[in-house]
Amino acid sequence: MLAITGPHQYESVVSAVHQHLPPVPNRFVDLVPESGLKLTPRHYAYLKISEGCNNRCSFCIIPQIRGDLVSRPAAGILGEAEGLIRSGVKELLVISQDTSAYGVDVKFATSKYRGREVKAKFYDLAKELGQMGAWTRLHYVYPYPHVDQVIELMAEGLVLPYLDIPFQHASPNVLKSMRRPANQEKTLDRIKKWRDICPDLAIRSNFIVGYPGETEEDFEFLLDWLEEAEIDRAGCFKYEPVTGAPANELDGVVPEEVKDERFAQLMEVAQDVSFHRLQQKVGRTIDVIVDDVRPEENRVIARSKWDAPEIDGNVIVSNATGIKIGDIVSVTVTDNDEYDLFATPALN
Ligand code: SF4
Repeated sequence: MLAITGPHQYESVVSAVHQHLPPVPNRFVDLVPESGLKLTPRHYAYLKISEGCNNRCSFCIIPQIRGDLVSRPAAGILGEAEGLIRSGVKELLVISQDTSAYGVDVKFATSKYRGREVKAKFYDLAKELGQMGAWTRLHYVYPYPHVDQVIELMAEGLVLPYLDIPFQHASPNVLKSMRRPANQEKTLDRIKKWRDICPDLAIRSNFIVGYPGETEEDFEFLLDWLEEAEIDRAGCFKYEPVTGAPANELDGVVPEEVKDERFAQLMEVAQDVSFHRLQQKVGRTIDVIVDDVRPEENRVIARSKWDAPEIDGNVIVSNATGIKIGDIVSVTVTDNDEYDLFATPALN
C-alpha cells in the first residue's frame, strides 16, 4: 500500500504512485506538455487549486453543477507550479471557487513535496508558491480572518500585493439575502487592517446591482462603502436570474431601468476611486510584466503587480526599445487615467 486517500481523491492516488514511480515525460504519448495544460500566453498561467464550493450563494448554481469543495493535494499543485515555471511562466494566477477555503474539505491534510510534508492550507500553499520565484497572484479570496496572515506574505514581497475578492455587495441586508460567505465580517475594518499590514495592497472586486430586494438605501450604502474601502478595481454586473438559482424566488424584482441607472452610477464612482488610487502611483518606480509589444509605436503593454491579466488595467510603457513579451522590467510611472498607468523605462 502506498497511501490512504479519501473518496474522489484521484490526484492523491496519482501523486502517491508518482512518488514511487516518477512519470517519464513522453511527447509522443502525453496529451499535455510537461508543464501541464495552459491556455494563456507563455509568461503567465492559471493554477487551479480546488474544484467545487461549500458556499451556497443564492444567485449561483456552481455548487449544484460542480459539487462541494474538493481541494487538490498541495504537492500536486506545487509540482504543477514548478513545471510551469520551468517552462517559462513568470506569473501564477491561483484560482478556485473559494481560494481562502482551500484544504478545509481535507482537514488541511499534508502531502509530500520534495521530501517535506506540506499542508493543504491557504497560508502554507501561498507561502510555498511565493518562494518559487514567480509572481503569485491570488484570485477569489473571501475576507475571513485567516487571510490576515497571507497579507503578511504580501508585505514581505513573497506574494503579489493583490487580492481579488468578489464582494458582490456591501449592504448587510443584501449580503444576507445573497447568503454570501463572510457576510458577518466587518470588512471595512478588515480592509483597513490589511492596508496597515501591506500599504501597497490593491483590491479588485465585482459587484451586483439590482439584486432582488435591493433598495435605494442598500445601493447608497454600497456606493459609500466602495469609496471608503477604496476598491482599486471594481467590476459591476446587473443582476440576471440564473435558471435553478434560489434567488429567483425572491420578491422585490428591480426594474431594468433602475438596474441601468445603478450600474452607471456605480461605474462612475468606481472610476473615480480607481483614478485616485492610480494617481498615487505617479512618480514611483515599479516592476511590470510585459504582455504585448508595439514596435511601430515604440511602446509595450505591461501590467503592474496590482493588475491581473484581462480584467484589470495596463501600464503603457513608452521608449520601450528592446523590451520583449514576458520580460519583467523596472519603469517609472509618469501619468495615469481611470484604468491605466503610463510609464517610461527606469534609469539605472
Ligand atoms: S458565488 Fe458563492 S456559491 Fe457560487 S461559487 Fe462563488 S462562493 Fe461558491
